[in-house]
Amino acid sequence: VRIARFTTGDGASFGVVEGEDEADLSIRRLEGHPFAPFQLTDDVVALADARLLAPVLPSKVVAVGRNYAEHAKEMGNADPTTEPPIVFIKPSTSVVGPGDAVQYPVGISEEVSYEGELAVVIVRLCREVPPSRVRDVVLGFTCANDVTARDLQRSESQWGRAKGFDTFCPLGPWVSTDVDPADLAITTTVNGELKQAGRTSQMVRSIDELVSHISMAMTLLPGDVILTGTPAGVGPLAVGDQVSVTIEQVGTLTNRVVARG
Ligand code: MG
Repeated sequence: VRIARFTTGDGASFGVVEGEDEADLSIRRLEGHPFAPFQLTDDVVALADARLLAPVLPSKVVAVGRNYAEHAKEMGNADPTTEPPIVFIKPSTSVVGPGDAVQYPVGISEEVSYEGELAVVIVRLCREVPPSRVRDVVLGFTCANDVTARDLQRSESQWGRAKGFDTFCPLGPWVSTDVDPADLAITTTVNGELKQAGRTSQMVRSIDELVSHISMAMTLLPGDVILTGTPAGVGPLAVGDQVSVTIEQVGTLTNRVVARG
């Protein structure tokens, strides 16, 4: 099932995306929210007549750095298999949805980079989850772009500002619930040009290990999002660019880059 959050102009609803033909999808509104058993309604709209929103509104986005060895290498970092995972928070206010603008903080950063990532969406309040139980606390998976002001990341020992600007966490287009995340292709394009091409099987730590590790430190809430790291091939974005993250069996998240007003 693909669970989207959408609006047709008045308020936001969750719905289930229906249809196989990418050009002819529709959304069936569901009653309430997807973090508990839900009822489908008779209210169906064409995807073309709706605007997709960020598929969840997380209380926090917990992200993991250097979870693909080739990316750690391209950044000049030590072998990540020998160190504990780097965990950092992107604020909830950095989240935007598919089609929304990424605002380039002109005058503050001169090097903003994309990072295509698989995002895990948590379905229930949980803490101290053993790896073998992680599946029980996951609603599904979506695409994320861990947008990063690379120059600030280099010059500041904490990454909160470099990765925490408003609009620096596009999520979407929806949450796919029936996906085995073990070995999915993940690609990033800028203006149609392929920049990143990895597979989730290249992760240093598995999703089960990462979610368990994070839950040992902090309670996770329904709708919270875990970013699982980016493959090799990161690079700069410019104002006017269109950046897309595609994950096999999930979908494509596209955003354009604008100068922050
Ligand atoms: Mg990242």
